[in-house]
Amino acid sequence: MKFNRLRLVGFKTFVEPTDLLIEPGLTGVVGPNGCGKSNLVEALRWVMGESSHKAMRAQDMDDVIFAGTTGRPSRNAAEVALQLDNSDRTAPAGFNEWDQLEVVRRIERGSGSAYRINGRDVRARDVSLLFADASTGARSPALVRQGQIGEIVGAKPNARRRILEEAAGVAGLHARRHEAEMR
Ligand code: ATP
Ligand code: MG
Repeated sequence: MKFNRLRLVGFKTFVEPTDLLIEPGLTGVVGPNGCGKSNLVEALRWVMGESSHKAMRAQDMDDVIFAGTTGRPSRNAAEVALQLDNSDRTAPAGFNEWDQLEVVRRIERGSGSAYRINGRDVRARDVSLLFADASTGARSPALVRQGQIGEIVGAKPNARRRILEEAAGVAGLHARRHEAEMR
């Protein structure tokens, strides 16, 4: 699976519909401070199922909806759509009959999020499952937050070990061992 295209409407600074084609290879996003570069990466994390508003630098999940500026009214909904190229047929079972997958997450003020995959209503869990084996997803160590490198360097040894274990994919193993020892 490859990321193909990201569409945003009403998400944080992306108030007008924004359509980004993600070409193969390296993609760079440049722009002045505060223009929305980090918001873009957060949109990617959000559409893949992020459930923590803190990970969105928000007080509440509704804060991802465009809050308005002087002269521009706030919106009542935000939507992010991520298109995936599955022509290599590497999507997990249950999603593998399509060449293209489109994951859509929509939030309306006061009523939470809803997800669709290729037009079909799905649960947040289905979206997590789609990304679970693809080394990506909302909690993937491949998505590095701004300032996170500094946090890792400055972290206490135990906290740093946890980050490295998560990246190495052994965090789940530890949790299961801990559970077994408690029995
Ligand atoms: P830097 O170069 O400093 O890292 P950046 O390009 O990463 O900047 P972001 O952090 O993505 O910038 O964007 C921050 C801007 O997004 C702020 O001006 C903030 O007010 C705006 N913003 C965040 N949430 C919303 C929202 N819900 N509605 C409108 N604007 C928002
Ligand atoms: Mg930033």
